[in-house]
Amino acid sequence: MNLDELYQTVILDHAQRPRNYGELPQATVFVQGDNPTCGDEVTVYLKISPDQKIEDIKFKGAGCAISQASTSLMTLKVKGKTCAEALALNDVFHDMLAAPEVPPLPPGFGDLKLLEGVRKFPQRVKCATLGWNAMKQAILEARG
Ligand code: ZN
Repeated sequence: MNLDELYQTVILDHAQRPRNYGELPQATVFVQGDNPTCGDEVTVYLKISPDQKIEDIKFKGAGCAISQASTSLMTLKVKGKTCAEALALNDVFHDMLAAPEVPPLPPGFGDLKLLEGVRKFPQRVKCATLGWNAMKQAILEARG
């Protein structure tokens, strides 16, 4: 399986069977984001512990496969991490898609690497970062 096929497989898998999908009644904060140019929307729910860990995360949404799959992958990566770690991961993910050069990717980046190809399609960058931006916004709001 080449990289393009792997990318397609992972994106379709997450779009069809999104992980951590649904509402989180015990959420401490949630943020809704949308990307009108493509018609994507997501709501990201976070349960943040007093010591600033993401104890739980879920999302709901609708839209293109990239927006939903990228949000699904994001929830898997940040669950159990500290807020600072999640924000750092968010920065690397953004840079991977939009910086002039792809930054060194940290260990454990895993399937997120597959989204690097989105760089070639600037309009889709907004799709891929929608859920990530909502997650970041939620952490910043929780900090007050
Ligand atoms: Zn989209």
